[in-house]
Amino acid sequence: MSISTPGTSPAGHTSGPVAAPFTTTIPGTPRIGPRRELKRAIEGYWAGRVSATDLEQTAADLRRDTSAQLVAAGFDSIPINTFSYYDQILDTAVLVGALPARYDGIADPLDRYFAAARGTGEIAPLEMTKWFDTNYHYLVPEIGPDTTFTCHPDKVLAEVSEAHAQGVDARPVVIGPITFLALSKPVDGAAAPLSRIDDVVAVYVELLDRLAEAGVGWVQIDEPVLVTDYADDLTALAGSVYSTLADATSRPAIFVNTYFGDPGESLAALARTPVEAIGVDLVEGSVDTVVSVPELADKLLVAGVVNGRNIWRTDLDKALATLGTLLGSARSLAVSTSCSTLHVPYTLDAEDGLDDNLRGWLAFAAQKYDEVGVLSRALRNGRESETAAFDASSAALATRESDPRVHVAAVRERLAAITDDDVTRGNANDRIAAQNARLGLPTLPTTTIGSYPQTSAIRLARAALRSGEIDTAEYERRMRAEIDDVIALQEKIGLDVLVHGEPERNDMVQYFAEQLDGFFATANGWVQSYGTRCVRPPILYGDVVRTHPMTVDWITYAQSLTNKPVKGMLTGPVTILAWSFVRDDQPLSVSADQIALAIRDETVDLEDAGIHIIQVDEPALRELLPLRDADKRTYLDWAVRAFRLATSGVSDTSQIHTHLCYSEFGEVIGAIADLDADVTSIEAARSAMEVLDDLNEVGFSNGVGPGVYDIHSPRVPGTAEIEKSLRAALTAVGPQRLWVNPDCGLKTRATPEVIASLTNLVTAAATVRGDVEN
Ligand code: GLN
Ligand code: ZN
Repeated sequence: MSISTPGTSPAGHTSGPVAAPFTTTIPGTPRIGPRRELKRAIEGYWAGRVSATDLEQTAADLRRDTSAQLVAAGFDSIPINTFSYYDQILDTAVLVGALPARYDGIADPLDRYFAAARGTGEIAPLEMTKWFDTNYHYLVPEIGPDTTFTCHPDKVLAEVSEAHAQGVDARPVVIGPITFLALSKPVDGAAAPLSRIDDVVAVYVELLDRLAEAGVGWVQIDEPVLVTDYADDLTALAGSVYSTLADATSRPAIFVNTYFGDPGESLAALARTPVEAIGVDLVEGSVDTVVSVPELADKLLVAGVVNGRNIWRTDLDKALATLGTLLGSARSLAVSTSCSTLHVPYTLDAEDGLDDNLRGWLAFAAQKYDEVGVLSRALRNGRESETAAFDASSAALATRESDPRVHVAAVRERLAAITDDDVTRGNANDRIAAQNARLGLPTLPTTTIGSYPQTSAIRLARAALRSGEIDTAEYERRMRAEIDDVIALQEKIGLDVLVHGEPERNDMVQYFAEQLDGFFATANGWVQSYGTRCVRPPILYGDVVRTHPMTVDWITYAQSLTNKPVKGMLTGPVTILAWSFVRDDQPLSVSADQIALAIRDETVDLEDAGIHIIQVDEPALRELLPLRDADKRTYLDWAVRAFRLATSGVSDTSQIHTHLCYSEFGEVIGAIADLDADVTSIEAARSAMEVLDDLNEVGFSNGVGPGVYDIHSPRVPGTAEIEKSLRAALTAVGPQRLWVNPDCGLKTRATPEVIASLTNLVTAAATVRGDVEN
């Protein structure tokens, strides 16, 4: 490991601090633990089973193991402070002293932190939202007119001393001031948070001083927002903020990192400031952007050539060639991943069940560290110093191209034959008339979004099946017993359109991925979704083939128990893609169409089996929206087309529903109308029917079920409250189109709450129905 030399140059001199450039690094790593140790420790702490000291010990052990692993892979600058007990943006809010005042009463800093993350009985948590276009969620800082900013560097300084005590050449990582404010939300009438940039930069100047004082040679400041169009003037801000920070009298060498896309003009703006290093994502971004910036000539360029967020093995020759083209562009070059490996599982070693071919195509975090090390050594010592690694990479990738599962001729032929007819249904008004005639539903029909509580009986059955304690037949018997209960419950409550409750689905995307050829479901590929919540995204590696019906038995069983219509329940192509690791060898739109055909076949089988209402969920429609405005139209076009391909195979007398959640429909609202579902249930409880006005504005005129209560809390909504929502909705859409439903699936709720809430929902619907019919 090379030793950096911290220290500053004489005051007034503009050359900045003296720190040796590094060669091999990574912006950040997973932190939840290879066996989710941190999740268990934190949840144990919340439950009072684990002491604060034991929790801290678990965290320290994980940090030490990660650093040691990076050192062993040959890294000469080790990121720290990428560890978090919950979320790096929440950490940043604490760092700049900007937690809302409502948490002030909680004396213990750790408990205060967790209160902001999850709320307490009395105090609401911060809102949570998606981290750029990843599946990670961060907590949204609130900036009010009275918010003040002060420097609280305790966490980062503690990690610095910890690393120094271990002899690690540590590079603290912090989220930058522009990204922090751009991702915050104004509250209590405050102006846009970015208007407070000077106040926050002042805190970072103090932070830099404290880090220099602690002997830090390099600091990494993350500004992923510079690859987006989230706000105007980001480029100008990049220039002014980093000029100010680089002019600080006492500071470490500054590495500004961008990722998740091409920084565009912001790169030149950063390069014109006196910062010492700039990081660029060369997987999503382009080499042309870099070579067109002459001001990089005196910088260290940190080249993210290994994809940090997907799970594919790197084409080492291609990556080395990219590095080669960059050699003349900067004073020195460091090899890195394109972004933190936070978004990928720890290691492939934890996966059995992979055949040799598939294993050879993949690289999880640990394998990516090796790739970065190999590329860095090859760049310095020549490719021949790493021949074995390069040969292994190209041999593995060759099998990927030729594997028959990757290119299935029948699937390709079917895709090529798709016509406009395949993505178009009949006139929407005629469809509804035909459906009404068949279904005979009352005005304001009541329904639910699909899932019912995942009871302990369901979880036990799944565990017993996995451990081999029970066989498939017994498992299926138990699932049918759950369906019996859920159907009986819905009949008793008096709902109009029933569902089977989804007991057989732990996670809906995982469920379909397990049934479809072309997907691999990992055993241990956990990644952090938010806080202690981890998910195992399936890996889409080949052409998608549906070898058998996936839901027909469950749905027809449910239908056999009742005379009311049971709604079939499927997940849409965009959502399946958004919550999986996707192929990097073909456009997403092609993968979407392949999945759409599989879902289409399922809808046709359901219809043939006598199911005449089918819901195809697309909760993640907004999640794949590109970060740059210029790319959004193309995305929405293929996303809508894939949904229509999935849902246009049934006759006009079958009713297609869809469901969307996670609010903030803004930019996708037009696309929702274009989906042309007969009925769209949509989260609206928290945005007071605004969504209906927005839908009206884009000319949407099909059926709609705005969620009349929020299922994300255990609170039971009163009848009067639901009536009020319904009457508000009626002013926006009128009785012919309005459906009555909660705002999302009920799987996370407890049965007594569900019974109470749905009973009130049915009562409220009956009252309002009585009024409109008179
Ligand atoms: N049908 C799914 C459910 O009810 C929808 C899930 C979702 O919207 N995220 O659970
Ligand atoms: Zn939902």
